[in-house]
Amino acid sequence: MHLPEIHISHRAAQRILSGHPWIYRSDVESSGDAPGGALVRLIDRKKRYWGQALYSSKSQIALRLLTREERVFDRAFLAERILQAAGWRARIANGAEAFRLVHSEADLLPSLIIDRYRDVFVIQALSQGMDRLMPDVVEILKERFTPHAIIERNDVPVRALEGLPERRGWLAGEEVREVVVEEEGGLRFAYDLMEGQKTGGYLDQRENRAAALQYASGRAIDCFCYTGAFALTLTARCDSVIGVDSSSSALDGARRNQELNADGSAAPNVEWKEANGFDFLKTADHDKLRFETIVLDPPAFARHKSSRESALSAYKELNLRALKILSPGGFLFTCSCSFHISEADLLEIVAAAALDAHRTVSVVERRTQSRDHPILLTVPETLYLKCLILRVL
Ligand code: SAH
Repeated sequence: MHLPEIHISHRAAQRILSGHPWIYRSDVESSGDAPGGALVRLIDRKKRYWGQALYSSKSQIALRLLTREERVFDRAFLAERILQAAGWRARIANGAEAFRLVHSEADLLPSLIIDRYRDVFVIQALSQGMDRLMPDVVEILKERFTPHAIIERNDVPVRALEGLPERRGWLAGEEVREVVVEEEGGLRFAYDLMEGQKTGGYLDQRENRAAALQYASGRAIDCFCYTGAFALTLTARCDSVIGVDSSSSALDGARRNQELNADGSAAPNVEWKEANGFDFLKTADHDKLRFETIVLDPPAFARHKSSRESALSAYKELNLRALKILSPGGFLFTCSCSFHISEADLLEIVAAAALDAHRTVSVVERRTQSRDHPILLTVPETLYLKCLILRVL
């Protein structure tokens, strides 16, 4: 198979040696006649071979390294990588019916996401190269997993950076929209695979929900609850749970999930409030309400580096309001999914908030995304979710 060659700079080569798969456009010395989306060979000035990558004609990330081996990255190679990723999930799944099967760079498949909801597979391809490989990915899934359906959720704005259109729809199998999965504790959750956030829901919080269950008690708030995953989990341990979200359609999903678990005991101890999370916490303090368990899982406040400062103060404000209404002995589960806010940042923010709230707080657990969203040591971008479990003394 003849592959187009792309000449890369010394700095690009250094980057490869540092274990990072991205090469920026400024480090491409000549792209020859390589079309956007092509599989290319990387060569330096001295004609040394550096590996194979997916080329983008549009994005600032011009190249995404696939392999440093000489062996051509063909369909069999792609299948191997997908099966390796699946192998890891099989080891850690612990009976989970919904999990991330492929987590892009962290599974050596840059810009490819595959989430699995029972036998339904949802794909996102976030670069020109992966978009071109979609038919191969679909064929591999059909051959190896006997899927009930394969869906693409390529309706994400980042595709515009690659000059790719937004698309969503069925690529194979039956036209299912919703899948109901059973979680570890026997809870059932419905995922809307066409309209839901991400590819349907927040699979990255699965292990954190299970962890929260160990500590939760008393009166609880799930702030930014989306379709109620934390809230419903907490009902098993808490006397009462309030799920708060500003989106009415998210709360419709939460009610649907509540009904799904309504077998007699019906999670009667949960109620849903459509409100701004910040306002809700402030009003609760004003009304002198106190709680033993609070989950804060807001959307990413810092989507770009430029919004870091404003994000830091938003996280601080939110955590301050939560800490003020936590009873002594209570637990705060505070999360940030902003890549631009590090765990050290979050710890610092919460420390400042605790001082302001006159609370002494200990760190019980420092957690991150579930293990089906692996973190690659040399690719900092793969670590995005921070989740601190804190106890008020
Ligand atoms: N904890 C959820 C995921 C939360 S995603 C889970 O594990 O499934 C973030 C949620 O915050 C979204 O549902 C969004 O509707 C909601 N949201 C965004 N801004 C908000 C605000 N200011 N107040 C309340 N909810 C908000």
